[in-house]
Amino acid sequence: MKRELEIYVHIPFCVRKCDYCDFLSFPAAPETYREYAGALKREIRGFEDPGRYEVVSIYFGGGTPSLPDPELTVSVLDQILQKFCVREDAEITIECNPGTLTKEKLEIFRRAGFNRLSIGLQSADDSLLSKLGRIHTWEKFKAEYADARRAGFSNISVDLMYALPGQTCQVWRQTLEKVLDLSNEGCAADRPRGPEHISAYSLIIEEGTPFWDRYHEDAMTKARGDRPLFLPDEQAEDQMQKDLERTLQEAGMHRYEISNYALPGRESRHNTGYWIRREYAGFGLGASGQIGRERLRNTSDLAKYLEAEHPLQEVTQLSRDNEIEETMFLGLRRMEGVDLDRFEETFQMRAEDLYSEVIQQLTSTGLLEISRGHLKLTERGIEVSNLVMADFLLD
Ligand code: SF4
Repeated sequence: MKRELEIYVHIPFCVRKCDYCDFLSFPAAPETYREYAGALKREIRGFEDPGRYEVVSIYFGGGTPSLPDPELTVSVLDQILQKFCVREDAEITIECNPGTLTKEKLEIFRRAGFNRLSIGLQSADDSLLSKLGRIHTWEKFKAEYADARRAGFSNISVDLMYALPGQTCQVWRQTLEKVLDLSNEGCAADRPRGPEHISAYSLIIEEGTPFWDRYHEDAMTKARGDRPLFLPDEQAEDQMQKDLERTLQEAGMHRYEISNYALPGRESRHNTGYWIRREYAGFGLGASGQIGRERLRNTSDLAKYLEAEHPLQEVTQLSRDNEIEETMFLGLRRMEGVDLDRFEETFQMRAEDLYSEVIQQLTSTGLLEISRGHLKLTERGIEVSNLVMADFLLD
């Protein structure tokens, strides 16, 4: 029987670097896009023994996969479709950034087989967008969203960020309302207004970014529980999270992972596969994959990637403990929690025995619960999820 596989393709190019971003992404010349597409196809062709697998999802992430000439992107997708056995109903997502989409591009993507878009909006407030260093405005996003619906995309995810410098709860609520009020006219979407899926992350100030220079002191102040000057304080951030959950719930979406919300049946299959530790192949600059018990990572050096016959830089053998820890960390991020039967089947031992003390302590303090065969975070547990997860590290 064929094993299930997910495929991730990294497109590292962006129009310009956003001020908070520490992803592997950068501007490049159109000629580089072309060379890169060639290198990607070579890497895909070199994948050994694809016949073992049935591909259940494909995800083009970045960077900005919607930036290069769409024919290049489509040629990479075609290479995957030729090389692998891809399930007929596979979820095929492309990440897009507003300001890089056109009606024609969207039609080309849809015709080629992409059936899901993940659009990085971040905020509906133009002054915040400019503070973040984004290249688009709310109106630009809105027009491109409408084009996407008209091009036939009936599964759209929108990325948002909160706890941004100078952002108030009211401004955050306005963003949520505007997004949920997006018109779906001309498309067979599940409802007349709003996207099918929303990912929402609170801003993290990453070292090496312009935001680090601007706001690091402020982030430290906030972490100490003092009132920061520019960033929303802890109380405001909690309120934003509560507003997020309540507003999306009222709009019929449910939280299925710490930072992800969807209409029923529209949860991201690709990300869910990652959280349940399905095998995945990663193609492209700096991309990582997991095949069997091996974690693979490509070079992050563009010149090397473009030249290399085999861009693989690192292979790490995962120990059994690594796998157990990952199963717990990733599983607890899902609202459904860790499937205890599946854990026992995989590791030939019960999570309740291995972690008996931790589970006992965290359930008695109301941070974890066991329900219908799943170990999961309670509402209070979600608020301190990082601390809870640290308890599942094995020595
Ligand atoms: S568009 Fe996304 S990947 Fe590109 S620089 Fe901005 S945040 Fe980073």
